[in-house]
Amino acid sequence: MSGGGTAGRAASLVVSDLHVAYGGVEAVRGVSLEVPAGSLVTLIGANGAGKSTTLAALSGLVRARGQILLDGTEISRWRSSRRVAEGLVQVPEGREVLATLTVEDNLRLGAWHQRDHLAAGLDGVFARFPILAERRELSAGSLSGGEQQMLAIARALLARPRVLLMDEPSMGLAPQIVDQVFAVIDAIRHEGTTVLLVEQNAHRALSAADTAYVMETGEIVMEGPAGELLANPRVVEAYLGELSA
Ligand code: ATP
Repeated sequence: MSGGGTAGRAASLVVSDLHVAYGGVEAVRGVSLEVPAGSLVTLIGANGAGKSTTLAALSGLVRARGQILLDGTEISRWRSSRRVAEGLVQVPEGREVLATLTVEDNLRLGAWHQRDHLAAGLDGVFARFPILAERRELSAGSLSGGEQQMLAIARALLARPRVLLMDEPSMGLAPQIVDQVFAVIDAIRHEGTTVLLVEQNAHRALSAADTAYVMETGEIVMEGPAGELLANPRVVEAYLGELSA
């Protein structure tokens, strides 16, 4: 499947000793993680562990201390718009499509710095997501939850990511739709885009990822090959119990 024109442009992301505080409270406390180019890495953990805050810091949406290397270049002082332009692109939690705009206008917004590639990019995402092509003139707010998630992913792909940050893409979706979302994630990474996936659905995330990090109260408490964590009794007990469906 082609789409978004992302193949072959993967970058690595290396994060060292990242700290984020809200007021006096540290929500992220010395997080270090490595996302090799072309890999799928997942960050799992309970509600409130600091996963979304970590992604927001990587995107430049919250102020952070620490080092962030995008393909070896230190970007932690860059504005978020520059990070996007250089290929670090986030699919936000809760999808955040613009409900009153059409599907196509939402997609055009994703390509604000890629005007030369817009037509080809739109063709690519419409080929990948035929449902969005069918609904291109409809308001994004009229789409189902799953369709809105596909739109949010498609919009991010139009920004031609080298590293795609995804914040709980399966949240609130029916299991069948979750399957579709994970199939898309798998396709994106196999086309050569690096993916850092934040998920509360630990079973699905660990099944899809190469490497995993577990976060608790602002810190990384475990890391390793995703398959090993999937079989680790501590992970099973804490994160895979009843949620493993
Ligand atoms: P969730 O799955 O609920 O998104 P999470 O692991 O992504 O959880 P964060 O949303 O990053 O966790 O939250 C980490 C901590 O920071 C929590 O204690 C949360 O209450 C706090 N927090 C998050 N956003 C803010 C904010 N804008 N202002 C103050 N505190 C915040």
